[in-house]
Parts: sequence; C-alpha cells; structure tokens
Amino acid sequence: MATKEGRCPICQKPSEKKFRPFCSKRCAQVDLGKWLSEGYRVASDETDEEEANLDKEGSAFEDRSE
Ligand SMILES: [Zn+2]
Repeated sequence: MATKEGRCPICQKPSEKKFRPFCSKRCAQVDLGKWLSEGYRVASDETDEEEANLDKEGSAFEDRSE
C-alpha cells in the first residue's frame, strides 16, 4: 500500500523532505495560492451578505419612521 504521506497533494509526485508535503516549492506555492484565493472568496461573500442585511434593515427602519 502506498503511504498517504509522501505524495504531493498537488501533482501526486513523491514529496520532497524539504518541501513536505509537497514535491517542490512550486507546488507548495500553488497550494498556498489556492488557500488564499478560496479564503478570500468566502470572506468577501460573508461580508457581502452582512452588508446587504444591514442595508435592508437600515432602509426598513427609515421607512417605518416616516
Ligand atoms: Zn507536486
């Protein structure tokens, strides 16, 4: 059986000790970039929703007081 660790999660090549769990600096950077872009998207999505909700509540308030 192949060991779970020891394979680059990006390209499935045997990982290099120096860049564990990746096989190279390049794959490590690819993974990091994936993480960053995913985190960015999720974070901005949440902010967007929250802002939209606040906006809705705010305008409803204004409507009521008039
Ligand atoms: Zn790789």
